[in-house]
Amino acid sequence: MDLGLTAADAEFRREARDWLAAHVPAEPLPSLETAEGFAAHREWERELYTGRWSAVTWPEAYGGRGASLLRWLLFEEEYYAARAPGRVSQNGVSLLAPTLFEHGTQEQLARVLPAMASGATIWAQAWSEPGAGSDLAALRSSAVRTDGGWLLRGHKTWSSRAAFADRAFGLFRSHPGADRPHNGLTYLMFDLAAPGVTVRPIGRLDGKPAFAELFLEDVFVPDADVIGEPGQGWRVAMSTAGNERGLTLRSPGRFTAAAGRLAALWRATADPADTALRDRVADALIGARAYQLAAYAGVARLTEGGTPGAAASLTKVFWSELDIALHETALDLLGPRGELAATATEAPDHGSWADGWIFALAGPVYAGTNEIQRDIIAERLLGLPKGRR
Ligand SMILES: Cc1cc2nc3c(=O)[nH]c(=O)nc-3n(C[C@H](O)[C@H](O)[C@H](O)COP(=O)(O)OP(=O)(O)OC[C@H]3O[C@@H](n4cnc5c(N)ncnc54)[C@H](O)[C@@H]3O)c2cc1C
Repeated sequence: MDLGLTAADAEFRREARDWLAAHVPAEPLPSLETAEGFAAHREWERELYTGRWSAVTWPEAYGGRGASLLRWLLFEEEYYAARAPGRVSQNGVSLLAPTLFEHGTQEQLARVLPAMASGATIWAQAWSEPGAGSDLAALRSSAVRTDGGWLLRGHKTWSSRAAFADRAFGLFRSHPGADRPHNGLTYLMFDLAAPGVTVRPIGRLDGKPAFAELFLEDVFVPDADVIGEPGQGWRVAMSTAGNERGLTLRSPGRFTAAAGRLAALWRATADPADTALRDRVADALIGARAYQLAAYAGVARLTEGGTPGAAASLTKVFWSELDIALHETALDLLGPRGELAATATEAPDHGSWADGWIFALAGPVYAGTNEIQRDIIAERLLGLPKGRR
C-alpha cells in the first residue's frame, strides 16, 4: 500500500492548516454543554461554513467541498492538531447527513443540508428510550398516521445537546402489528420547538445542562420528514449506526493529537525513572497510530465501494478504550493538579485532561455499549455462535 500523499492532497492539508491557524479562537470557547457555550459553538460552525470547512466531503451544492474521505481524514488531523472547538453540529453532520445521503430524497437533501452545514439548524439524536437502549428494537414511542403526516407520542432519553438543539431525528413504531420488533418502525425528523414537545435536561455529574430527555404528545410531523419508507426505519437506522460506531464519529485525528499532547506532557513533567508511566505513554502513542493506520485502510476500502458494516464495532471498542487509557495516563502524570476544574486559573491546559477523562468514561456506553459491540464482533466477524440473550 502506498501511504504517500499526492501533491494535491498535501496542498489540501496545507490549505486547511493555514485556515485553521488564522481562525481558531485563541482561548477555548465555553463548554458546548451550556447555553452560552452552545451559542458560541454555533457561531464557530457558521465561521467554518463560511470557509467551506464545516462538511468537507459534501457536494459543493450543499456547502461542502466534494472532498474525498481521505481528505476528510487529513482535515480532521489538522483540526484536532489546531485544537479547534468541539463540533456542536456533530449529530447532524456525522449521523443524520450520511443517512440522508443514503436514504433521503433530493428535496430533503436540498432543504436540510445547507442549514445543517451553516449551524443554523443543530440536530439531536432521539433514539434511546427508558426501556430501549442496547435493545433499541424494544422502543415504544409511536408514530400514528394522520392527514398529511404522523403524530409522535412517547418518551426519548439520553439525547446529547437536545436541551439547546433545534431539531431531532429518531425511530418510532408506526405499524404495531408487525411480525418482529425490528419491523414496522419509521425514521422521522421533527422540530424540538413543535407543539407537544417537552425537553427536560438530565442532571449530570459536571452540572452542565445540555443532555436531555424528550416527552412527545401528539407532535405533528409532515410526510416530507419521513426518511426512507414508512415501516422500514430499522434498515435506515442501521446505516446511521455504522457511521456512529465507525469512522465519522471519532476520526483518528482526535487521538493522534491527544497522544501527541500526552507525549509532550510526559517530556515536560515526568520522572524519567518512572518506566511504568513511560510505557503507558508509549502505548497511547502506538494505539493512536494504529487507529490512524486502520482508519486509512478503512477509507481505502470504503472508497472502493465497501460499507462500514460490523467492522465499525471493532473500531468503536478500540477508540473508546484508547480514549480512557490516554486520559487516565495524563491524569496520573499531572497528579492532584489534573483534578482542578476547567474554571480554576491553575488548571493545567484549561482543565482539558480532566474534562476529557470524564467524557471518555461515557465512550464505552454511547453509540452502543461495548458489551453489545463485542457480541457483534464475536458473531459477525469471528463467526462464533450466538451468545445467550
Ligand atoms: C454520554 C452519552 C450520550 C448519549 N447520547 C445519546 C444521544 O444523543 N441520543 C440517543 O438516542 N442516545 C444517546 N445515548 C444513549 C446510549 O446510546 C445508551 O446509553 C446505550 O445504547 C445503552 O443503553 P442503556 O443506557 O439503556 O443501557 P442498557 O441497554 O440498559 O444496558 C445496561 C448494561 O447492560 C449491558 N447489556 C444490555 N444488554 C446486553 C446484552 N444483550 N448482552 C450483554 N450485555 C448487555 C449493557 O452493555 C450495559 O453495560 C447516550 C449515552 C451517553 C452515556
